[in-house]
Amino acid sequence: MGSQEVSTVDWQGKHVTVAGLGVSGIPAARALHRRGAVVTVVNDGDDDRSRAQAAELEAHGITVRLGDGATLPPSTELVVTAPGWQPDKPLFLAAAEAGVPVWGDVELAWRLRGTDGRPAAPWLAVTGTNGKTTTVRMLASILEAAGLRTAAVGNIGVSLLDAVLDEEGYDVLAVELSSYQLHWAPSLRAHSAAVLNLAPDHLDWHGSMEAYAADKGRVYEGNTVACVYNAADPATEDLVRGADVVEGCRAIGFTLGAPGPSQLGVVDDILVDRAFVPDRQKQAQELAEVADVNPPAPHNIANALAAAALARAFGVAPAAVRDGLRAFRQDAHRIEHVADLDSVAYVDDSKATNTHAAEASLAAYDSIVWIAGGLAKGATFDALVAGAAERLRGVVLMGADRALIREALERHAPKVPVVDLDRTDTGAMSEAVARAAELAGPGDTVLLAPACASMDMFVNYNKRGEAFAEAVRARADESA
Ligand code: ADP
Repeated sequence: MGSQEVSTVDWQGKHVTVAGLGVSGIPAARALHRRGAVVTVVNDGDDDRSRAQAAELEAHGITVRLGDGATLPPSTELVVTAPGWQPDKPLFLAAAEAGVPVWGDVELAWRLRGTDGRPAAPWLAVTGTNGKTTTVRMLASILEAAGLRTAAVGNIGVSLLDAVLDEEGYDVLAVELSSYQLHWAPSLRAHSAAVLNLAPDHLDWHGSMEAYAADKGRVYEGNTVACVYNAADPATEDLVRGADVVEGCRAIGFTLGAPGPSQLGVVDDILVDRAFVPDRQKQAQELAEVADVNPPAPHNIANALAAAALARAFGVAPAAVRDGLRAFRQDAHRIEHVADLDSVAYVDDSKATNTHAAEASLAAYDSIVWIAGGLAKGATFDALVAGAAERLRGVVLMGADRALIREALERHAPKVPVVDLDRTDTGAMSEAVARAAELAGPGDTVLLAPACASMDMFVNYNKRGEAFAEAVRARADESA
């Protein structure tokens, strides 16, 4: 199927359909309208919020169609879509039939970078099932420590489009990319990229594990200096092998063990580089101490090594890697220690929205009362529960798909006491914490690591984490 080519310079009079009002759609519509394109925004929803947003865009001369995200406006020459829109939507089928190209928010940013006569900053890209935000923020911190003008952007919640259109410009961007964004970004060519790990997630969107992996693997396409993979996760290395890169681009592994040639790893609690040194057969360069990584949990050390690999690929000096890691502060709701009550630690890892992330956080504690459940997104829980069974003192389940976890517990941890909370109201989290407290003894950790998405009960994982932290603090106040 041949798609028409779209000029990235001459937008005058081009008919562009923007799919989805929202964090990416509104800036995209504005940017294209400013360049002279004839923009129509289509949106499934027709609620008060969309109406207010539509009114604002319409005041600028942008057409908005609410309540109809399925129909392709007849004169459309290009569709720019919000990354979350599923590829089998009628709008995209109509576009394919008409030979109209579809770009995601990342593709648009990539195409517009450097078009206003500004130099185009190279991108260091990070994807993977878990650890993306942490790694990208560590990377930005390292790049800053090296004196570079940079920003952590993309799926992290900061608009890539704003970054590429920034007046002052950047030396380099640390870019977090989701599998959805990569799906819609066919011509993206990063300087260097990392796939941190690959575990089943979002399979309902992609259709299969193969399709999900293929979209993640796009991040390596056209890399010029380094494709960074996880030596403990062969699927990531397979993606490097499958990528079409620029001649001379290297495959660089990271490992929690001693690094081989062309790898970064750990020796005697030191992060070392055996990739970006003059003689990688004989030399290793010290970068930082494990204690410089905050917090130094195993999966976080892996994130630090991946960030270091990308920074080193960009030519950053070892001391800046160390300084950047030291300066880095973890975001909220990621293995966040909330309080100690009656010798029980309460930890918020609400960001563990899939089984792979929950596995990493369950592995970090010896004796756990686990709060889990929510939207499973097609996941199964047997391996997760079997791996953690010995360390579980009790489990409190909540949310829409909790029965899936309960059944896995019956199969693999039949002796562990389970509380099944059949309520989804605002008080549910405080009951969950109360029941967890009853199950916990001195030295235990009450761990919110839901292994599920939050949207059945909360606006997002932040709100879920906040509800947990508030419930814990309320108990602390009561006992004070
Ligand atoms: P992402 O942006 O990919 O969702 P985050 O850095 O926000 O990743 O972390 C998400 C969750 O994954 C957290 O709950 C954290 O405990 C867990 N996590 C972070 N890094 C890793 C990793 N390298 N492997 C497995 N789990 C991880």
